[in-house]
Amino acid sequence: MIFERIDFQTQRSRLLNREISLPEIAEEFAQRVRNDDYHAFLSILPERAFEAADAIQKKVNDGTAGKLAGMVMSVKDILSMKDVRTTAGSKILENYIPPYSATVIERLEAEDALILGKTNMDEFGMGSSNENSAYSPVQNPHDTERIPGGSSGGAAVSVASNMVMTALGSDTGGSVRQPAAHTGLVGLRPTYGRISRYGLIAFASSLDTIGILSHSARDCAQVLEVIAGDDSKDSTCSDKPVPTYTEFLDRDVKGLKIGVPEEYFGAGLSDDIREAIENVKDRLTGSGAILVPVTLPMTEYAIAAYYLVCTAEASSNLARFDGVKYGMSIGREDGLQSMYATTRHAGFGNEVKRRIMLGTYVLSAGYYDAYYGKAQKVRTLIRQDFQKAFESCDLILGPTTPTSAFKLGEKSDDPLSMYLSDIYTVSAPLAGIPAVSIPIGKDQHNLPIGMQLTGTAFAEETILNVADWMMSNQ
Ligand code: GLN
Repeated sequence: MIFERIDFQTQRSRLLNREISLPEIAEEFAQRVRNDDYHAFLSILPERAFEAADAIQKKVNDGTAGKLAGMVMSVKDILSMKDVRTTAGSKILENYIPPYSATVIERLEAEDALILGKTNMDEFGMGSSNENSAYSPVQNPHDTERIPGGSSGGAAVSVASNMVMTALGSDTGGSVRQPAAHTGLVGLRPTYGRISRYGLIAFASSLDTIGILSHSARDCAQVLEVIAGDDSKDSTCSDKPVPTYTEFLDRDVKGLKIGVPEEYFGAGLSDDIREAIENVKDRLTGSGAILVPVTLPMTEYAIAAYYLVCTAEASSNLARFDGVKYGMSIGREDGLQSMYATTRHAGFGNEVKRRIMLGTYVLSAGYYDAYYGKAQKVRTLIRQDFQKAFESCDLILGPTTPTSAFKLGEKSDDPLSMYLSDIYTVSAPLAGIPAVSIPIGKDQHNLPIGMQLTGTAFAEETILNVADWMMSNQ
């Protein structure tokens, strides 16, 4: 069931005014996650949350509560959490208990967020529908016969059904934005390097980012303020100062130049989504924003480039799961080679195996130049497309997904058609730039529609501001 929404901003003022206590909040939400109807969670952590709630309540009483006191969250099960089972949606890590926590989890807890569970996901983040989880698919609360989007499907559903207020997911090629679109949420993928990846189990390291799912741009901004910023444990993390994102939220859109790429509105886009975006465009121009036609000609090669780069990196990253260091280890009695093969055969699901094989192939001596080398060149061209487009606009607008949520099972036997549903979300990761999906209405089946705003590197404050504006002007 979809629970009644409890807004963080309201809850926080009630907490600080002593109208409600953290143990009461923890109890209420523990009840909700215990009644998870959609398979959104792989582990729930009520006991841990009750302990934290007592400690945070003391800080509230002393007037020293952190910025996120009163916020109840989930984290995707790809984020390592000390002493808590962390599976990345895979059988190979079914019993893996990390000895340390991801930087983002430490930062959330340092500001008193309450983490109530770890969410279901496509195995190692590989998927667009959450059907590749080794444990269970996740159902979309708007229609339980449909997918919630992937790979952060559990994260999205945990927020959309109000079992928690906000969630952390991860986005390699769309895994935060796409489930946000299918479940009616704000989903932010920040600039590569804005948030430390320390403790994020790697899928494709040059593309992986941690992202945020929430009901509002303000909640998203508040979480981002806490988790973004330099980290000595991740050398790809930027030391650029972190703005107070919430301070940028109340600006209007007058004079803002918004690029509309012709390539994003061609064949394959559903009429309902096209029409919903047309309405948003009218509202923007009605409020003084300027729409600028732009072109991103490399868009047609983005899927191919993405699936070459991500499979290559995955094949290398996943080599570490060999029966020696983490999680499952079987077949030892027949020697080392047998242990590698037996463990990986039993531990990985079909999609993961497919990607390891593809990635190994494209990195092999004979094919490197033809595939991986070429994909890297296309990646540069995609980045240049955006650089050129951003010479004439501040932001780029487009759909998040070509269609609204499809039926469970509809694309499971056709990996290519599944990959094609990522057409609008893979370019920003290849270019390393931030993008947000925001809910802009419902289609004829009453399913949520998402629209995407893409910005220049480190322009999170602008995209969150416009996202906020759009959601208050619907
Ligand atoms: N759907 C894309 C894939 O399967 C993106 C996944 C992600 O962002 N983790 O690779």
